Formats: sequence, C-alpha cells, structure tokens
Amino acid sequence: MQAAKPRVKTARDRLLSQFYIAFALMSIIPLLICCYLITVKFFTLSILEGLNGFYFLLAVAFSILGLVIGQLLLRNVVQQLVQANVKLEQFHQMQDAFVHNVTHELRSPLTIIKGALDNLADGLHGTLTADQLEPLMMSQRETARLKRIVGDLLDVSSVEAGKLRLVHAPVALQDCLQGVAKSCEGLAKERGLSVTTELPPAPVTIMGDRDRLNQVFINLVVNAIKFTERGGIHIRLTDHGDAAQIDIADTGRGIPSEDLERIFDKFERVGPTHQDGSGLGLPIARGIVELHHGRIWAESRVGQGSRFVVRLPHGP
Ligand code: ADP
Repeated sequence: MQAAKPRVKTARDRLLSQFYIAFALMSIIPLLICCYLITVKFFTLSILEGLNGFYFLLAVAFSILGLVIGQLLLRNVVQQLVQANVKLEQFHQMQDAFVHNVTHELRSPLTIIKGALDNLADGLHGTLTADQLEPLMMSQRETARLKRIVGDLLDVSSVEAGKLRLVHAPVALQDCLQGVAKSCEGLAKERGLSVTTELPPAPVTIMGDRDRLNQVFINLVVNAIKFTERGGIHIRLTDHGDAAQIDIADTGRGIPSEDLERIFDKFERVGPTHQDGSGLGLPIARGIVELHHGRIWAESRVGQGSRFVVRLPHGP
C-alpha cells in the first residue's frame, strides 16, 4: 500500500493559518475585557440575574454569532485574494516565458539579416552607390539596435528565472576597467566628453564572470555618456579589504532622489527619454552584481551628476 504523501505547506496555507491565529487573538480580546471588568468589580456577576442576565447572555450569543459569521466572510475574502494572487503569479510566469520564447526565436533571423547586410556593405555582392549605401547603413544601425534589445530581453528574463549562469574565474579589475574605458573612449569623444580612470597600483582581483562584469561596467559608462552634456566620466577602483568598489561618476543631468531606486526596475526610464535605450540595462546590471553577491546603487544630485557604485566581494 502506498504511504500517504506528507502535505507540503504552501504560501497559501501559511497565509490562511496566520489569518486564523490573528482572528482567534482578536476574538479573545472582548472576553479578556469582560474578565477584567468583573475582576475590577466594574460589574458583578449578580447583575446577570433576572432579565438583565437574559439580555446579557443574548448579547454574548449575538456577539459570538457575529464573530463566527465575520470569520466566515473574512475567510472567504482572504481565500479569494490568495487565489487571485496565485493566478496573477501564474500569468506573470506565462508572460515571462512568452517574452523569453519570442525573443529567442527572433535571435536567429536577426543574426541572418545582420550577416546579409554586412555582406552587402562589404561589397560582396558588388559595389554600391552612395544612394544605396545610405539606407543600407540605416538598416545596419536599426538591426544592431534590435539585436541589443533582444539580447537585453533574453538577459533580463534569464536573470529573473534564475537561469543566468556565471563562469567564475579570477578577474583582474584594473585590466577589466581599463578595457572598458578604452572601448567607450570613442563614443565619449564623439560627444566631447572625457573618460578618466583612477586605479590603485596594487592588483585588485575578484572571483567572477569577466564578460558579465564587463557588460555591467560598459552599461554604466555608456549610460553616463548618454546622460552627460559636458564634462566627463570618471572610473575609480578602491579596495576595501573584503570587497572591491567601483565608482562610475559623471557630470551629467543627474537623477531625482525619488527615482534612484526605481531606475533599477524593468523598463523604468526617468527624465527626457529621447536617448536610445530599453530601460533594461540597470535591472540586468543589478541581477549580475547580485549573482556575484555584490551590491549596486546610485547616488546623484540633479544638475550636477550621478555616481553608480558597484561593490563586489573578493570571494565567489
Ligand atoms: P536605458 O539606458 O536603456 O534607458 P537603463 O536601465 O540602463 O536603461 O537606465 C534606466 C534609466 O536610468 C535611464 O533611462 C535614465 O533615465 C536613468 N539613468 C541611468 N544612468 C543614468 C545616468 N548616469 N545619469 C542620469 N540618468 C541615468
């Protein structure tokens, strides 16, 4: 004979039992008040004799009935709320799976389109005139943008589903940040901005995924460039013993204090949004940093600039 499986307590069961305990405690309070009033002789049991006693008992019976009916009604409401919550959660999961599948399916055709456009631009199918080159380059730019968005959507859904796998290896942060500064220099120059670094002479190494950390720092520096009109971007690395800290500061438009946390949520963009972007870079960055057991946050003064801080422990 098969042994009955022990029932696993779900979040729904836990919520319901908490509700019962709360309700039981609530019911005890009027009883305790009655006991207290009798104890301090506010009223004595003798007043319960005769007609008064009958009324009192009737009142007690009605109160108990009220409590029981109230409990049934409240339990019903709580159950409906819990069910609605479960449905919402399921819907959310289905939506995430849908986004993941669609973006996954989009990746291959996009790669093929990009390859074909690159071949055309490289003159593999004959020399192109200036008139033909212009729309071709526009298509290349837009395809690259679409590829970035698809990549970001895939990353964010992997982070949320806990499916983003890191390859841990020693990462020399000086090398990594120098590389990031170099690769963003061109974009900064185009906008008349400088990119400077301040790195300690002693090597600072952490265990982590170099490519993913690169992605985080590049995103922060590119954002800093995007939202800065004049001045520059400063990348600083400091060793705090148990953790390394990377500060990426800019002299840009800044972020209002009430938005400093919100910008790490999916699709959140604040201020004028004429800049290219999907609102996914910071949630992905936070996901990657947290997978390294680190922290990321932003500090800012509107009109003066922002500072994004990444703290990464040395160990895995
Ligand atoms: P995206 O840059 O694609 O819009 P992100 O998630 O990287 O998405 O950033 C979210 C929002 O945070 C940006 O749209 C912008 O409003 C704000 N933000 C990020 N970095 C900065 C910065 N350095 N200065 C000012 N605002 C910023």
